[in-house]
Amino acid sequence: MKALIFLGAPGAGKGTQAREVSKAFSIPQVSTGDILREAARKQAPMGLAAKADMEAGALVPDEVVCGIVEERIGEPDCRKGFILDGFPRTLAQAKFVDGMLEKKSFGSPLAVNIRVDEDILLKRLTGRRTCSVCGEIYNIYFNPPKKQGVCDRDGGKLLQRADDNEATIRQRLAAYENQTAPLIAYYRAKNLLHEVDGNQDPETIARGLVRFLRTV
Ligand code: ADP
Ligand code: ADP
Repeated sequence: MKALIFLGAPGAGKGTQAREVSKAFSIPQVSTGDILREAARKQAPMGLAAKADMEAGALVPDEVVCGIVEERIGEPDCRKGFILDGFPRTLAQAKFVDGMLEKKSFGSPLAVNIRVDEDILLKRLTGRRTCSVCGEIYNIYFNPPKKQGVCDRDGGKLLQRADDNEATIRQRLAAYENQTAPLIAYYRAKNLLHEVDGNQDPETIARGLVRFLRTV
């Protein structure tokens, strides 16, 4: 039973690596960003309320995301472990995770911090495309699909996220620096931090990460 937390700036590769780790260990990837986008797409009240913050590149209120995570983690497929992708993002959320894991008698979490040089984040984010069917993540610069705009796996249409534009990206990077980066020190102080060099190619990162996670 392990709770994994993926930390890293927008575009660091959290989603890409979480998909690989999820497959390797058969544990679910819980992405607050994906859940919020899906709720907005379905015009669910929670999604509609979060939409303005997401479009502005600001964080959604703690109560909203904590509620989402608590509900999702309560589902049976999370009993063996899970990956929190993009959560926690504030100190209040990190403390909420501590309380939630204790309540559920889970052990301590392990935070995986994916570090990437800031100058490449912009290109990763503006180049990101995601399959509308299977969620596979592409990049028009670094990992393009064989046929433009189409998923290699299932032919699904590739979409660009509304917040992956330069102005919103700047806001998201600022929110990361101000509100999320302090979590690195939080987990380091508890000896629960594993650092990953996210500048390498995705396959090399995934191989090293899976190998490391088999030892913990
Ligand atoms: P990225 O891939 O850039 O890391 P995400 O998909 O994780 O982005 O998040 C997209 C947006 O969803 C964020 O900019 C924020 O508005 C909202 N969001 C996602 N997770 C959280 C969270 N844990 N706390 C607050 N807002 C969140
Ligand atoms: P995050 O979830 O941290 O915002 P993603 O996993 O969605 O990041 O990756 C952001 C973009 O960068 C995507 O287009 C993805 O294909 C690309 N990417 C992810 N990891 C790497 C890597 N190691 N090298 C080059 N590009 C990458």
